Amino acid sequence: MRLRYGEAEEAFRAELVGWLADHAPPPEVLSQPKRSSADLSPWAREWQRTLFDAGWLVPGWPPELGGRNASAVEQMIYFEELSARQLHRTSNPQGIGIVAPSINDYGTPEQRERFLVPTLRAELSWCIGMSEPGAGSDLAALRTRAVLDGDHFVVNGQKVWTSGAHDADWCICYVRTDPDVPKHKGISALIIDMRTPGIDARPLPELSEPDYADFNEVFFTDVVVPREHLLGELNGGWAITQGSLAHERAMLWIDYAYSAQRAVQALVELGDNDNARGRIGDDPRYRDQVASLFVDSQAMLFLGYRGFAKFMRGQSSPEHSLLKLFGSETVQRAMLIGTEALGAAAVDTDRSGPPLWRSGPWGIQYLRSFGGTIPGGTSEIQRNIIAERVLGLPRR
Ligand SMILES: Cc1cc2nc3c(=O)[nH]c(=O)nc-3n(C[C@H](O)[C@H](O)[C@H](O)COP(=O)(O)OP(=O)(O)OC[C@H]3O[C@@H](n4cnc5c(N)ncnc54)[C@H](O)[C@@H]3O)c2cc1C
Repeated sequence: MRLRYGEAEEAFRAELVGWLADHAPPPEVLSQPKRSSADLSPWAREWQRTLFDAGWLVPGWPPELGGRNASAVEQMIYFEELSARQLHRTSNPQGIGIVAPSINDYGTPEQRERFLVPTLRAELSWCIGMSEPGAGSDLAALRTRAVLDGDHFVVNGQKVWTSGAHDADWCICYVRTDPDVPKHKGISALIIDMRTPGIDARPLPELSEPDYADFNEVFFTDVVVPREHLLGELNGGWAITQGSLAHERAMLWIDYAYSAQRAVQALVELGDNDNARGRIGDDPRYRDQVASLFVDSQAMLFLGYRGFAKFMRGQSSPEHSLLKLFGSETVQRAMLIGTEALGAAAVDTDRSGPPLWRSGPWGIQYLRSFGGTIPGGTSEIQRNIIAERVLGLPRR
């Protein structure tokens, strides 16, 4: 008996690995700074288009949508290989990961024609307008109002934390279209051209990198949106927020698992350096922390594969409820261990030498790691979900 993927799947992997060796951009291109998560620079557009043309952009989809009808196991292999190389298929992740599947599932034929392939081919970039000052974890409380007036909607309100809004061409924006029904039932999704008069996107500087701004406050004042840009049913927006691409979602944990493994390796290497107290790796507390992190990173990997195996058998997999929480917090813990070991040098690229991690020094990575524990449901919300839906504890 062999405990590994079958021969057909390994042939799929070999084809992908060979293709990546020939086509993936080199690390010095991949690590070029980008302006935001909707900044499609010339090389990023070309890379995404190359993936699309070769059927490696969304492998589970058919060739006309940048895929090759890959099975779920093949898609898992795809994400393993990308994660192992820290390779991103797009520099507008919300465009490929959320917008394209939503338009594919809910769009009219005209919307699919106008937006789907151009998005996949990196001709359009996107932002997602969900959160508002009074509606984050409780998204259904959103108040941005859209009033239908003949052949168009008029939108007024404010969004916040809108990633890439200042660079995006288009936005999928969730708005209240009926204030008189229970809150989940009065929400619609609109496709909004970000160049429409009345939209003011104001970037918010980030603590981790003051020169970089991805988040925005976005103000809508009497913004006119054609009626044909309603995505899905009027007042049917809540279903769209619940997302699609179930297969891909079931595999997102793999990035956390590989990040945690890389973090352990980087902490082991860091142990050979000195801090004010001597050789970092001689500190028993540090050794204990790194060993414990190693155990957790392995556990995460196995938990993910167990969940995936259940998903493949059509069973429910409570593992997936745990993985976002466990993954984002494990990566964060790794960054904190490295930051504490280095002290002030953790934020000083000159003193700590070349970054151990492609994305920058430990202290900056630690600050940035909070970005993993908040979107898509904060850690507290994840704990609520696990308590109620996995452990069956009573609601308070
Ligand atoms: C990296 C990143 C990218 C993002 N990109 C986007 C984007 O592109 N578009 C967009 O619309 N939004 C985006 N967001 C916003 C994100 O969706 C919200 O930050 C998130 O939903 C939490 O909402 P909030 O910030 O309003 O916090 P709140 O919901 O106000 O929560 C504040 C605190 O209270 C806790 N809390 C809230 N409710 C409960 C509860 N019921 N039980 C226990 N604790 C609770 C939370 O865990 C948190 O600690 C992004 C956020 C991040 C970090």
